[in-house]
Amino acid sequence: MACPAGGMNYNKDGDKGRLLMVKDVKAFRENRVGALPDEFVLKKKIVAFPNDIKYKGLVIVDNIEFSTNCEHHVVAIEGLMHVGYIPNKLLIGLSQVARIIESRANVTTMTIQERLNQEVADELNKILKPEGLIVIIIARHNCMTARGVRQRNSQTTTSCIRGKFDGDLRMEFFQLLNLRRK
Ligand SMILES: [Zn+2]
Repeated sequence: MACPAGGMNYNKDGDKGRLLMVKDVKAFRENRVGALPDEFVLKKKIVAFPNDIKYKGLVIVDNIEFSTNCEHHVVAIEGLMHVGYIPNKLLIGLSQVARIIESRANVTTMTIQERLNQEVADELNKILKPEGLIVIIIARHNCMTARGVRQRNSQTTTSCIRGKFDGDLRMEFFQLLNLRRK
């Protein structure tokens, strides 16, 4: 459905999403300079390989930068993702974790942090079928920091767990992340 003001609907939920006004589309295009078209990014093949060594410890890939745009306010969401998983039969090429995040975040479609977090967790889960995994996002939302309530130090943290990632494992994950920061 075309927007009367000539805007476009970039929302993934189709008709349920709000239609963008012309000024939104302009701001969005400016914000997303360098973002890759969805079709291009989502087509890339992700490489996983057999866990021949039967590694059963935690694999953590942290500090993966991403940026996307808030579907409510069009402005940027920028932050870091931290991924941890306990492998089952497959291991993933480490750079592939960043590719998956790129394929969900650095595209021209707008989103919200909660959905992005779920999508990255689901995609990793689908490819790896691990014993368990966790994906944490810590992000700054310009709609919160640079406009409106202007809470410049505010960050939003979300986490998604798939499979078994119980208390002890979570503790180990956070301890190892902290260690990395010393
Ligand atoms: Zn927003």
